[in-house]
This record gives sequence, structure tokens and C-alpha cells, in this order.
Amino acid sequence: VPSPYAIRTFGDPVLRRKCEPVDVIDDTLKQLAADMITTMYDAPGVGLAAPQIGVSKRFFVFDADDGKGPFTVINPRITRAEGEYTFDEGCLSVPGLHFPITRANEVDLTGTDLDGNEINFSFTGFEAKIMQHEFDHLDGILLLQRLDDDARKKAMRTLRERQLRANG
Ligand SMILES: [Zn+2]
Repeated sequence: VPSPYAIRTFGDPVLRRKCEPVDVIDDTLKQLAADMITTMYDAPGVGLAAPQIGVSKRFFVFDADDGKGPFTVINPRITRAEGEYTFDEGCLSVPGLHFPITRANEVDLTGTDLDGNEINFSFTGFEAKIMQHEFDHLDGILLLQRLDDDARKKAMRTLRERQLRANG
């Protein structure tokens, strides 16, 4: 089965918009989450946030490849963030580019699952990185905004040059 959704990429305004909270968990949302998980695996990726498929709602899916996932987290909140962890980070919406980004090493995250139950996660390192990256998407923040000025300017130049080449 092909991915039901194309992943939105840098330049699409939906990626810079702050998402609205989810107020009803219905069959439409459940189907959307299932389709997002398929799209994430096809990419392949370890996380995918709703705005990446053009839906400006506060939820994301992830699978940290630890045998426990995939998970859907609705209306997530980060309740604790401590320490520092630097990882060469990429994003399905900014394909082909990676940047060393420092985020919190330990994160507690709470939210709601597709059955409406509260779920809590405590993650460190790589998994904590995924949570913070996907959470950023819900606030319209791309990994480019996490770079210092020089690195961001360089990345924007690369993206612009690539767009020019793609447009012939
Ligand atoms: Zn991303």
C-alpha cells in the first residue's frame, strides 16, 4: 500500500503555523494517525507530526525502534526537560540535510492516546530528541530555527540553491 500522504517540505506555510489542540478523538483522527504511521515507516522516519501532512492539529506519531511503538500522542505537553544531548539531526520536511542540534537529554512528556487515556513517557537521549523535535513541529518550529545564525544562513542558502536547481 503506498503512503496515503505526501510529506510537506520546507517552504510550505503549514509547517510554520502553530497547531490547534485536538478536541475530539473520532474515527477520522484515528484513521489519520494510522495513515501517518504508514507514511512515517515508508519515509522512513522515527517520528511524524500532523502539520507534516498538512494537518494543523496538535498530535504526532513516533516509533523509536525499541520494539514498543508505534505511538500516537495527542495534545502533548513536555513536563520536564533536563541536561543536554547533541545529535546530528534531520527532518523529513527538510530532506537531505543534517545539523548538530543540542536539546535536553531527559524529557517527560504527557498526552492522550487514541483511546482518550492519559499517557506519560520518560525518555533520554535519542528518544528524548524525537519528542522535542516532533513537539517543535506542533508550534511551527523547524529544526532550522534551532540553529545559530551562521548555521541557519548557510542552511537557507543550500535550500535556496537546491530550489533554483529543481526549478531548472
Ligand atoms: Zn521534522
